[in-house]
Amino acid sequence: MTINAHPALPEFDYIRPVTLEDASQFLARYPDEARPFLGGTDVFVRMRDGYSAPKFLVDVKNLDGTNSLHFDKSGGLTLGAAVNMNRVIASPEVRVNYPLLGEACRSVASYQLRTRATVVGNICNASPAGDTIGACLVFKGVLYIHGVDGFHQEPLAAFFLGPGRTTLEPGDIVTAIHFPPPPQGCAGVYLKLGRNKLSDLAIVGVTVLGYPDAGTSSGYLFRIALASVAPVPLVPADAEAYLANHPISLETFREAAGLAASACSPIDDVRGGARYRAAMVRNLTIKGLEEIWRRLR
Ligand SMILES: Cc1cc2nc3c(=O)[nH]c(=O)nc-3n(C[C@H](O)[C@H](O)[C@H](O)COP(=O)(O)OP(=O)(O)OC[C@H]3O[C@@H](n4cnc5c(N)ncnc54)[C@H](O)[C@@H]3O)c2cc1C
Repeated sequence: MTINAHPALPEFDYIRPVTLEDASQFLARYPDEARPFLGGTDVFVRMRDGYSAPKFLVDVKNLDGTNSLHFDKSGGLTLGAAVNMNRVIASPEVRVNYPLLGEACRSVASYQLRTRATVVGNICNASPAGDTIGACLVFKGVLYIHGVDGFHQEPLAAFFLGPGRTTLEPGDIVTAIHFPPPPQGCAGVYLKLGRNKLSDLAIVGVTVLGYPDAGTSSGYLFRIALASVAPVPLVPADAEAYLANHPISLETFREAAGLAASACSPIDDVRGGARYRAAMVRNLTIKGLEEIWRRLR
């Protein structure tokens, strides 16, 4: 018997709306048959592999505001949905102000893939393994969404409902993600454990951002986000609170990393076992915290 692991791409109609209003109306009219796409690196692979067969693919790359990357010191960074990851990496504003975001993009697959793949596509795909989501969470990203009733905003922290599931309603199109100015004196790191150094999804991903904060008893705030260890990208709030309330030391880092590991609910899959994943969260969180502490001092 021959198993066809990669069935051919099914037929579909390519739709290229000119306005956001048209795009939202079309997507709302065909909630089960139409799908928006940006780089298509998730959409086309899922279609090729037989997981989905939308009748209409709606290209949202050329709509208002989706292609701009804009930074100003008081307002922060607004990253259009269609800006590909190589553009994010090459941006001087990102390099200076949000280097962690560029680092997270660089961890995704290959240069070739990143000429298509976008940060917003990575977010909307809602895989718990999405490599750029952690950086977007620790920088407190807010999504700009256009729907049939116009624009609204959604904090990224409230966006994920489960694997592949988000708060988006039929007709909703994410046009951009906005980040407030980065915290003064911050340092960030993304530690990705994959099966190889190139082009693999994370077995575990740990993002850490730290910065001085006079309002905490430790004098510092650390934000942490975990990939591939829960149904959604995970912020281990207890670990963050522990770090804010205890003097900085290796023992504090170990304790916080234990809390981060306890917050996880990983699964066994082809890339790693649940116990291994939880152990790696602990190890990589300690490593990330130590690295950030070294840079902050
Ligand atoms: C070979 C290969 C290697 C990969 N390696 C990695 C990796 O190392 N790390 C990683 O995180 N990912 C990886 N991926 C997955 C993928 O490349 C990323 O998730 C990418 O960021 C998706 O961006 P995109 O623009 O291509 O999204 P698309 O495929 O265009 O869309 C992704 C999802 O978002 C929805 N969507 C798109 N645009 C919008 C919008 N504006 N509003 C609302 N919903 C929208 C689509 O309907 C779809 O469900 C890999 C994929 C491939 C094929």
